[in-house]
Amino acid sequence: MVGLTLALLLAREGVPTLLIERKSKAAMENPVKDGRAIAIAYGSRRILEGAGAWEGMAPSASPIFDIAVIERNAPFHVHYDHRELGNEPLGHIVEHDAVLRALYAAAVKEKALTILDHAEVAAFDADAYGCRLTLTDGREVQAKLAVAADGKRSALRAMAGIGVQEKDYKQLAMTCTLACAKPHDGLAMEKFLPSGPFAALPMLGNRVSIVWTEPKERGESLMRVDEALFMEALRERMGDFLGEVTLEGKRHAYPLTFLQAREYIAPRLALAGDAAHAIHPLAGQGVNLGLRDAAALAELVAARAKLGLDAGDAALLSRYSRWRRFDALAMILATDGLNTLFSTDFPPLKAARNLGFGAVNATKPIKRFLMRHAMGMVGKLPNVVAKKTA
Ligand SMILES: Cc1cc2nc3c(=O)[nH]c(=O)nc-3n(C[C@H](O)[C@H](O)[C@H](O)COP(=O)(O)OP(=O)(O)OC[C@H]3O[C@@H](n4cnc5c(N)ncnc54)[C@H](O)[C@@H]3O)c2cc1C
Repeated sequence: MVGLTLALLLAREGVPTLLIERKSKAAMENPVKDGRAIAIAYGSRRILEGAGAWEGMAPSASPIFDIAVIERNAPFHVHYDHRELGNEPLGHIVEHDAVLRALYAAAVKEKALTILDHAEVAAFDADAYGCRLTLTDGREVQAKLAVAADGKRSALRAMAGIGVQEKDYKQLAMTCTLACAKPHDGLAMEKFLPSGPFAALPMLGNRVSIVWTEPKERGESLMRVDEALFMEALRERMGDFLGEVTLEGKRHAYPLTFLQAREYIAPRLALAGDAAHAIHPLAGQGVNLGLRDAAALAELVAARAKLGLDAGDAALLSRYSRWRRFDALAMILATDGLNTLFSTDFPPLKAARNLGFGAVNATKPIKRFLMRHAMGMVGKLPNVVAKKTA
């Protein structure tokens, strides 16, 4: 998602761009469903509009009008209503395969963008003038700048000798789709349970996408039990606010780890998306952060390329790193902190939680700030996001 978005943003600015992807053309045209529905924040929608890909995914996008953050057993819950900030939805839910399909369909139309499918980088060298990527089939590519947007286990990051900080959450995120008897009305529900966060995200066709986190061992046994037992445990956690719910399709599971690259840049190389930072999915912000990397980098590169300046030199890279590390750090601290704060019964932390929930609901400016945060509209925003204001 991040690599294609960046490539589109660059190509649409006239910057000649090459995308190297391991998957085949057929797999990119028809991505497989992997049980993930992506919460695309309002700011990310603007980035995807700028990339010319939003139109292709809009028919599959379900608007989020309200967000309810609930802690079981606590007297408070926080309710974010989109009308408090205007009429725009807070974000949209789009299935992962629909996002990829729309991005690829837009990418093949861009003249300045070449896609090498079924291709992998075997070696990376850089010097003062540019970089060279040698592919596994022996082909060579020369460029002013390379970007590693090859995910959490980035091979290009390793080739550049960039290490990572990693933490195993010892949690499993289970995902599935449910058809619901009662209308969800665009409500995204996030429940913080002692065993881990549980989210029900509104999808088209009055369905919801579930992201249900449990400690690893319990999660693994829930993935093994039959559908009836799985659904019984799910209903217990979810409650009955959507009436009778039925499972659609398969269940999927993702072991959760946090990962951050020690550096976001190396000579002639920038990291973007999960290659730079892979965070807990509890706030649905991982790819939103990555899309802001893409927009920021495209903006910096296009500005220099237009002036005929070197679009991959150290000055550009260090501006990119300063800009993006700050945004990523804020999100890492928030998601990591929330996961810890809510999966404990330690009394002082429980009291802090309740105080926090009460304060958020009672204090309009705090609530609006958090809503704008969830919408991806806080901090130093790339131009493609900031052009119009929410
Ligand atoms: C259960 C779950 C739910 C989530 N929900 C949300 C959500 O609601 N909202 C949100 O913002 N985020 C969410 N996320 C996070 C989101 O999925 C990731 O942040 C996102 O997939 C990262 O995108 P990316 O493009 O950086 O990397 P990836 O999606 O990992 O893509 C990497 C690409 O690089 C290619 N590649 C890899 N290695 C090579 C190689 N050596 N050579 C060539 N190509 C290569 C891959 O084929 C792939 O196409 C969720 C994550 C999980 C686990």
